[in-house]
Amino acid sequence: MKFGGTSVQDAARIRAAVSIVQRHRDQQPVVVVSAIAGATRELLILGTTALEQGWQAACALLAPLENRHRGILADLGLDAPAKREVGDTITRYAEEIEALLKGIALLKQLTAQTQDTILGYGERFSTLLFEAAARSSGLDVETVDAATIMITDARFREARPDRSELQARSAATILPIILGGRVPLTQGFIGATRDGLPTTMGFEASDYTASLLGAALGAGEIQIWTDVVGMLTTGHPAVEDVKCVRELSFAEAAELSLFGAKVLHPKTVEPAIDGNIPVRVMHAANPDAPGTTIIATPTPTGVPVKSIAVKEQVTTLRLHPLHPTPSHESARVIAEIVDRYELSPILITTSGHRMLWVFDNPGLGAATDPSPALAAFGSHFETTCDPDCAIVSLVGELTERAASTLARALRVLTDTTLHIASHGPSDASLSFVMPSHQAADAVKKLHDEFFAGAALGGLFTSAEVSS
Ligand code: ADP
Ligand code: MG
Repeated sequence: MKFGGTSVQDAARIRAAVSIVQRHRDQQPVVVVSAIAGATRELLILGTTALEQGWQAACALLAPLENRHRGILADLGLDAPAKREVGDTITRYAEEIEALLKGIALLKQLTAQTQDTILGYGERFSTLLFEAAARSSGLDVETVDAATIMITDARFREARPDRSELQARSAATILPIILGGRVPLTQGFIGATRDGLPTTMGFEASDYTASLLGAALGAGEIQIWTDVVGMLTTGHPAVEDVKCVRELSFAEAAELSLFGAKVLHPKTVEPAIDGNIPVRVMHAANPDAPGTTIIATPTPTGVPVKSIAVKEQVTTLRLHPLHPTPSHESARVIAEIVDRYELSPILITTSGHRMLWVFDNPGLGAATDPSPALAAFGSHFETTCDPDCAIVSLVGELTERAASTLARALRVLTDTTLHIASHGPSDASLSFVMPSHQAADAVKKLHDEFFAGAALGGLFTSAEVSS
């Protein structure tokens, strides 16, 4: 059971999450929590502030974050000894962060390794509060430090877990807690190298922690508790009248998250597929709503489009060789540059010598500055780069309906500047690449076309929030 940042952002929500866990007691849950909403972003800024403006400026930014956690602690209604103990631990964590910030300021150096060490405190704070809240309401949880089970490589910020190590370690530490009738609790997002250096597995990766653990333990279900009733027909804020999609296949959910539906981290589905474990997306404020169930083979519905994902901030790069070059040589040069600068291609189209690549823009926390990569491309190709594009993707049971779905989509997209219309790599998606400023209009029109008439009942349920 994974609880996201908004689901643990204040005392009332933490208590609600604890009671959801209590309701699932007989299923022998393992709980994963994220940092409280916004904390990771605030922690990220501390390091750069220490580097650029000095120690005191950074500590001044740490204080409000520390106080938010103290505020939650005060509201949890714990007895005096528990409150004191948690308060002391918050103080200790804050002092450790201050020491790290001092190091950054003195050395005038901020490495990805130091940044990961600081980022990990978000989840340490939130598990601390969750554990205290759970115990005070009679739920016997035991915190397992993620650093002792989630062993990763040393690619700070985007560390990759060692899944067989996780399996062995969780069998040794988490299973006995479950078998002892207690509830294991651990931090999402973070891990550590074999030598104990703290790492993180990518922004928003707590979902991934949950599915990795679910697969490692052979769980019956992976539950993602969040702030929406489930996977919606779109998460784009411009669209009203969205519905909740009851069932999706692993392939569909993977496409949706890859193409921007941030309710699930893109890596989440993979371990679930390996273990054939259903993933359920549920609303922490509406635990009785059916949510979305993601399984290998959902009931066929004949509905071609189940959801529309929007991925903003992608870069399109048009490449044309400066000199006549055989295609295999161009392909090799591009692959080398992509690998050297660790770019993440999302879509590619080619037409003879001309190619159009779509890359994920370096996101929050990513170290990559695109300019050296662009310079590298520029020495072989005439390049046209547009960093301000979006991908709008239709996801569903397209297989035999791809052409008719494409025709319907194009009819409503006549005003859109289409850089790419792509179907093929996956049966489950149809993607359109366009300038960012056109995405809201495109998704509104597509949503109208495919969902305006959709009845509630079968595949779709209400997205209304009932509390
Ligand atoms: P958490 O903090 O629980 O991990 P996130 O903010 O990461 O929550 O994910 C939930 C958010 O994902 C929703 O509030 C919504 O804005 C966004 N979202 C994007 N696409 C979708 C979609 N297709 N279905 C549901 N939510 C979506
Ligand atoms: Mg999330």
